[in-house]
Amino acid sequence: MGEAPAFLFDDLNRFSENGIDLVCMGRKTTNFIGNTKYEIGDHDDSALSNGVKVFDNSLGDWVYPTVLGTKPTLSSDHWSLPLGEDRILVIKNGATMDDSLWFLEVNTPYVRRQKNLWGTNVVAWSKGVIGYPGKPIVISGPSGVGKGTLIAMLMKEFPSMFGFSVSHTTRAPRENEINGIHYHFTERSSMEEDIKNGKFLEFASVHSNLYGTSIESVEAVGDAGKRCILDIDVQGAKSVRASSLDAVFIFVRPPSYEDLEKRLRSRGTETEEQIQKRLRNAKGELEQSRTPGLFDHILVNDDLEACYQTLKTHLGLHESADNTYQSAMKKAGFPRVNSVSKVGTTIFLNSSNADLGNASKNSLVLDVSLLKGGAPGRTRGLTAFGKLS
Ligand code: ADP
Ligand code: 5GP
Repeated sequence: MGEAPAFLFDDLNRFSENGIDLVCMGRKTTNFIGNTKYEIGDHDDSALSNGVKVFDNSLGDWVYPTVLGTKPTLSSDHWSLPLGEDRILVIKNGATMDDSLWFLEVNTPYVRRQKNLWGTNVVAWSKGVIGYPGKPIVISGPSGVGKGTLIAMLMKEFPSMFGFSVSHTTRAPRENEINGIHYHFTERSSMEEDIKNGKFLEFASVHSNLYGTSIESVEAVGDAGKRCILDIDVQGAKSVRASSLDAVFIFVRPPSYEDLEKRLRSRGTETEEQIQKRLRNAKGELEQSRTPGLFDHILVNDDLEACYQTLKTHLGLHESADNTYQSAMKKAGFPRVNSVSKVGTTIFLNSSNADLGNASKNSLVLDVSLLKGGAPGRTRGLTAFGKLS
């Protein structure tokens, strides 16, 4: 990899090349996207600012946008630079691997949609994750078939690889269920309001209750750098298929209707009436699972262990998944960055420090042309190359 070109600071603490502002560094940084100026940092008036101020050209004053997503703490130096016309990359100095790279989305399709809904200026934070944890996994199948059991097995064997998208539901919690872990248990009216406000990736009425996946639930898994698992019904799977979320779709069938009934009863979590309703709905779900092009893989959960092994094969988990630069980098930690520069879609983060005699140690190169999406319209995985000491 060649030497990164040198840039000069201007009086706003920005690097510039051929008059184009590229990289800014400080406790507060300023970037332009088109004619709009964004100031990022924990401002003195931070109770209002949420870390972002936007200069409204028509008012001739700063305004505080509605800030969506998980917000980074920005109390010390960071670097920032615009990426194209729709987002700003923020690199925190001296932060941990999981907390170093952030995107402020200012004009992505997601943000534009939210601006229309809110009628205000909106920006959204997403955490940048090095590497791509893999496509989200949608698992569907009739109630009692063993979806939850299979997902629990995956989570147990690969605790750092997968994260569960916690759905919202209007049904009452079961005895062992914890709000925020198994579901976000919610009132129908507030869920309907959130659906109207565009907060859901999909939703459906299932067994007389409302269930849905919020965009933030999928984002939260991506923020943790994990591969997202969604346990949703067939209608939900159809909606996700129609969305821009690129996922793997898996349907789990029981070996027989009688087995399904036995399992549902043995779980002992539903009343007789609810069991009857779930069994009736199972017929429709099994039929719909045959919709051409909807599911990538159909598994029969007869012998649990055999079904689990097949699931792992479909998810590529029998191959060596840990031989990439990205995973080596995760182990080495994020470099302390001394300079940042951008050429085309390549960003050079240099941590060379002549005083310490470790020139070029830990320099890192990010290719932002390969950004992978999180929830539709949101930013996610970054591809990194570089030299590790
Ligand atoms: P779902 O999440 O699809 O509603 P669960 O994972 O809760 O279903 O499974 C329902 C019941 O069936 C549980 O009691 C579980 O232990 C049991 N079960 C799951 N897979 C099998 C299997 N292959 N053979 C027998 N029982 C199973
Ligand atoms: P349970 O009440 O047994 O937890 O779930 C009942 C059904 O709702 C299951 O088929 C499950 O896959 C589905 N479900 C759970 N969460 C969601 C969701 O967010 N969206 C949709 N569409 N279905 C869901």
